[in-house]
Amino acid sequence: MSTVALKDVTKVFQDGTIAVDTINLDVDDGEFMVLLGPSGCGKSTVLRMVAGLEDPTTGAVLLGGELANDLSPRERKIAMVFQDFALYPHMTVGDNIAFPLRLAGVEPTPRGERVTDVAGALGIGDVLGRKPSQLSGGQRQRVAMGRAIVRRPGLFLMDEPLSNLDSGLRAELRAEISGLTRELGVTTIYVTHDQAEALTMADRVAIMRKGVLQDVGTPTQVYGRPATLYVAAFLGSPRMNLLEASVYVHLDRYVTLNLGEQALYLPWDDIRSRAVAHYHGERIVVGMRAEALTPVTPDTPGHVLQGRIRYLEHHGHESLAFLDIGATAIVVDEMGGPVESGENGQRGLRRFGQVMQRLAGRAAEA
Ligand code: ATP
Repeated sequence: MSTVALKDVTKVFQDGTIAVDTINLDVDDGEFMVLLGPSGCGKSTVLRMVAGLEDPTTGAVLLGGELANDLSPRERKIAMVFQDFALYPHMTVGDNIAFPLRLAGVEPTPRGERVTDVAGALGIGDVLGRKPSQLSGGQRQRVAMGRAIVRRPGLFLMDEPLSNLDSGLRAELRAEISGLTRELGVTTIYVTHDQAEALTMADRVAIMRKGVLQDVGTPTQVYGRPATLYVAAFLGSPRMNLLEASVYVHLDRYVTLNLGEQALYLPWDDIRSRAVAHYHGERIVVGMRAEALTPVTPDTPGHVLQGRIRYLEHHGHESLAFLDIGATAIVVDEMGGPVESGENGQRGLRRFGQVMQRLAGRAAEA
């Protein structure tokens, strides 16, 4: 069983920097867990503590349910791949991949078979005789992956392994890496600051900010129901609309979210009404994704928010409209067809397709 558990793990460096603050995280056997967060939030430090390259200041690291704080990196049966993967320049690709097996004393015949298998799985079977200098960046990264995985580690740790590659290659390799680790059933912790990478590769994503774990969940959970305002604002492009609203529960059983001069109406049978009803009389922050709002013409009957288009942005597969609703700026995904800004730029917004989450707190915290 290759599980990882962090129990109240804190890392304070000698200069007093609190890089990781009381983190609790469980990674299941065979799971692909992504640690996501901006630069300096402590992701690499978490990974290095799991690897045994840093000691936690307090707290416990458990591997396979056993306390691992005192185990050396070698005793942890892990493999690591970093952004600046270092291959041995004088060795061929085949020898680079075989190197960990040679160290472990694996006989030449099974060693050769394992190298062929791994190279085949990574699509580099035809370059085994070349030197690293004769490879493309993507091929070199595949060799680094092959060398890490050839010993069939129980746990695979990767720190921004794709960040030195161009975007096309990154997209290709991220599918390969997550496919390969799943095929091998190896538990993986993958560090990145790239949310597209995190959301496409992960079984679950752990989002960090300033050493503190903000949220852990499947990509759908953290995107759709972020646990904190920070996560709501951090995940997704364009950013989630975060609007301050006052909640009123009306006795004829509907709820309004008052945004200054205009209001959003939620019928009582909408489950989101009940979610916000207990904030009656309070100001809350309501989060809604651009794709949750449907643009309509301004003369559409019913409860329609009126917005003024500031500008449109065309992205090929989608168009975004940036609007002001009174003093509030929002962004809407033009799924129903492009909007022309027209003479006065007025636009109606039909409902709120989804209230992704209501987040008690102030938008300023985000
Ligand atoms: P990046 O994506 O830029 O690598 P990260 O999220 O992985 O960032 P860490 O490298 O874990 O972040 O660093 C977390 C914090 O700890 C940062 O403020 C960093 O400057 C600090 N830090 C890291 N290593 C040390 C060290 N050896 N001594 C003091 N502070 C350190």
